[in-house]
Amino acid sequence: MGNGVEKPVSRDDLIHFIRSVVSSNEKQQQTDPFYVLDLGTIRSLVNTWSHNLPMVQPFYAVKCNPNPAFLEEMAALGTGFDCASLAEIQTILSLGVSPDRIVFANTCKPESHIKYAAEVGVNLTTFDSRCELEKMKRWHPKCALLIRIKVPETSGATFKFGSKFGALPDEIVPLLRAAQEAKLQVNGVSFHIGSRASNFHAFEDAIQVAKTTFDTAARLGLPKMHTLNIGGGFTAGPKFTEAASAVKVALQKYFPNEPGAAAGNEGLKIMAEPGRFFANPSFTLATSIIGKRIRGGVREYWINDGVSGSMNFLKYDHDDVVCTPLRLTVKNPTCKGLKTWNSTVFGPTCDAADTVFKDFQLPELDVNDRLVFHNMGAYTSSRGNDFNGFKTSAIPTFITRRPNRRPSLHCR
Ligand code: PLP
Repeated sequence: MGNGVEKPVSRDDLIHFIRSVVSSNEKQQQTDPFYVLDLGTIRSLVNTWSHNLPMVQPFYAVKCNPNPAFLEEMAALGTGFDCASLAEIQTILSLGVSPDRIVFANTCKPESHIKYAAEVGVNLTTFDSRCELEKMKRWHPKCALLIRIKVPETSGATFKFGSKFGALPDEIVPLLRAAQEAKLQVNGVSFHIGSRASNFHAFEDAIQVAKTTFDTAARLGLPKMHTLNIGGGFTAGPKFTEAASAVKVALQKYFPNEPGAAAGNEGLKIMAEPGRFFANPSFTLATSIIGKRIRGGVREYWINDGVSGSMNFLKYDHDDVVCTPLRLTVKNPTCKGLKTWNSTVFGPTCDAADTVFKDFQLPELDVNDRLVFHNMGAYTSSRGNDFNGFKTSAIPTFITRRPNRRPSLHCR
């Protein structure tokens, strides 16, 4: 994976790039929102992953952002993919990725999707119920299985999964027995500590429960388990180093005799399903101001994307987003040093809840000035809707190849 040749473009380079997109598309695109995908950032993140967690193979969680150019780059860099549906599998196979680089990581799959996985040779999936075992037996009995376990919710994650996913401790033995009786092959264990985690000791708690599950399977006489899937929950930046060291400490503690845990070679196969880690920093969103109102000392602005669109996650994820005003007409494009006003920023729809920020300091801006949002790749375009005809799905993505290279349009 990753050859380390390309550095991410800096914030200043991105701003420069955005200005060049705007001016090269003056007629149609001048005010429409658009994304910028920075290929250098993806490469740098893949390298960071390999450097910190060389023993853990990342299977990028496609649901987080299925932008085709992003997926192509991930495929070229050698990652695997976590697909949750038939359509996601089709997308990944259409890139020429071989089916053994896919985990069908959905514990409850429609039968038609299971049949499709069998046809195309996707042979690894997760389960946490007897019903899923019955469906697998019927439609894809050769598929290797990972038992998804519910792990202690100690990660402080914004998005927790335990109420819906994962076998409870007292369900593990009956499920393993049922798999054994059905002659299905359980290769290992899978878990997810929750998305946007902040306490990475949770990995230690989860890997301990996983180890107990491996031991239980051995006690029941199942063939030796050899796969540990540690899920997602990673964020880029300093928190990643913290998470990676927690994972390494836990692997050494609970799987000390597995060569794979230390060296990434034979033995235990360790995989993960990171989404946010790769997608979030790779995308920047450029919006335009489409309206303005002054109420006393407060400036109110409308922009052309919002909470019904790319920013649907803002109610949970506020602190990841970095907002930069960008004037296209003055020498100081990022408005550094200008007097600021207490400002509200609304999205474009008729829903009053479509309010992006309140009490935010911005300089005096006008219609057609740009507001640029960094770290906008995770669960943004993939979760937005087309409410009021403001089509999240139609927002185009421009791709940086190298700093200062002319933008190339990639339509979603
Ligand atoms: N794997 C599964 C099964 C998930 O449900 C998710 C997120 O919903 C992920 C991986 C990705 O998680 P994250 O974006 O926190 O890395």
